[in-house]
Amino acid sequence: MDNKRLAELLFGDIDKTCEYYEKLYPPRDLPEGAKVTRLGPSPTGFIHLGNLYGALADERLAHTSGGVFYLRIEDTDQKRTVPGAVEMLTDTLSYFGVNFDEGADKNGETGAYGPYRQRERAAIYQTFAKALVEKGLAYPCFCTEEQLAQMRAEQEEKKENFGYYGKWAKHRDFTIEQIEEELKKGKSYVLRFRAPEPRGRYIEVEDAIRGTLRMPENDMDVVLLKSDKIPTYHFAHVVDDHLMRTTHVVRGEEWLATLPVHVQLFEALCWERPIYCHTATLMKIDGGVKRKLSKRKDPELSLEFYKAQGYTPTAVREYLIGVLNSNFEQWRMENAQLPLEEFAFSTEKMSVSGALFDIEKLSDVSKNYIASLDAQTVYDAITAWAKECDREYYQLLTRDKDFSISMISIGRGGDKPRKDISSWKQSKTFYSFFFDELFTIEDHYPANVSREDCISILEGYLSSYNHKDTQSEWFEKIRALGEKQGYAPKPQLYKKDPNAYKGHVGDVSGVIRAAITGRLNSPDVWCISQTLGEKRAGERIKKALEDLKR
Ligand code: GLU
Repeated sequence: MDNKRLAELLFGDIDKTCEYYEKLYPPRDLPEGAKVTRLGPSPTGFIHLGNLYGALADERLAHTSGGVFYLRIEDTDQKRTVPGAVEMLTDTLSYFGVNFDEGADKNGETGAYGPYRQRERAAIYQTFAKALVEKGLAYPCFCTEEQLAQMRAEQEEKKENFGYYGKWAKHRDFTIEQIEEELKKGKSYVLRFRAPEPRGRYIEVEDAIRGTLRMPENDMDVVLLKSDKIPTYHFAHVVDDHLMRTTHVVRGEEWLATLPVHVQLFEALCWERPIYCHTATLMKIDGGVKRKLSKRKDPELSLEFYKAQGYTPTAVREYLIGVLNSNFEQWRMENAQLPLEEFAFSTEKMSVSGALFDIEKLSDVSKNYIASLDAQTVYDAITAWAKECDREYYQLLTRDKDFSISMISIGRGGDKPRKDISSWKQSKTFYSFFFDELFTIEDHYPANVSREDCISILEGYLSSYNHKDTQSEWFEKIRALGEKQGYAPKPQLYKKDPNAYKGHVGDVSGVIRAAITGRLNSPDVWCISQTLGEKRAGERIKKALEDLKR
């Protein structure tokens, strides 16, 4: 076969050479060890938690090594392309603190390794496809859909492996005359890779996350260019990651199955392979069973969910880094104050089996993070969120800013700050008792305190209350008040001799707490009363007394 003639026949319009592109995109001038990573999404207009999880791994690897993280739009499937998808993608990722150094963006692109949209790279792929044809490593296949379906049926009947390979590869050995004849008839074709003769061999690939992978060699003549000469993922990935000088390909484990194809393509083109990092799929436990997150069943898969709930982007990032790197949590405990960026993110600490996503855990991470912020920062963030997502809450928060700041300040700061708030949406539920419009009775009085005792405790409290009392003066009064009614002034005393008392001081303050907050659990009641002010705190007690006496 005259491969050169075939290459001209198929790609007569290609005027550049491989060398031209190699020169155009020289190896990057980066410090030793710098990693070049990329995100290669299809512009479908939907970006989910799994994308963010992968993007974070890419971003951290590049940015902790002084490397480059770029965005390549994989738009070879035009049916899935949605206008505005790039802007939406970069805006969303940026909201979560993931920013690109180079590549496609809403205004076009930046960087010296573009174009960064695959459709604009058609001539580049065709140049390398032409080179493969010249080397006898690619050939046109004229099979129609029907012929392929028929072949599949036959394979099924004979219990042979499905696919286009070996003796089933109908057009593998077409002569140039036969090819010319098909072309003359105007037949459309795809360009297929000529897989090396199968020898039942296994290949070994080092995966930075999974270690040595041993897998059977590929024997399929996979499609490189579709009938419109636009590449398949396999071919585009190899050409792009080589020419864009990617050092680490971080991608989902669903690509493991076709890794042997990619290995052969790199060999066929005589290129060094990037380091593969196949990430574990995000899973969740549902009814005791591990399963993939689903678009239909799990609202938490959508990134909009986190915005709508008012989870801070930082908390989401912190949480996902913890899912990605098993040693992050320990590091965070030892380095509570350091920014996340200082954590030495690595592929070795990434999980190989399904990574578990747990919204409860996210809430805990978020509580820790929010507890570390000062009141003004929290106020600004909640109001910014509420302005967009909850107008009622926004009005309440901004009606009296000093009041809101005082409310948010309770239990904040110090060595052991309270960890009440997991998201801005949940903060409304938590802070609701501070606003008369939202105040509701959620809990009953402590079960071991009789109605009569509740009344006398609240009456006694009201008559001895002095808004100027310090926290300890206030508490001493409550102790004394309780003791008079038969409640131990210290829980330990009650524990030692439970028959001698009706309860202890905790029950007494519980009655006051329930009257003021409508709950049995709340931050410090003295602090709450100081924030509410003498009048409003007093009114709550009076109202509770009215209800008790009814
Ligand atoms: N477009 C591919 C995807 O969305 C990219 C995979 C890769 O990162 O190589 O799955």
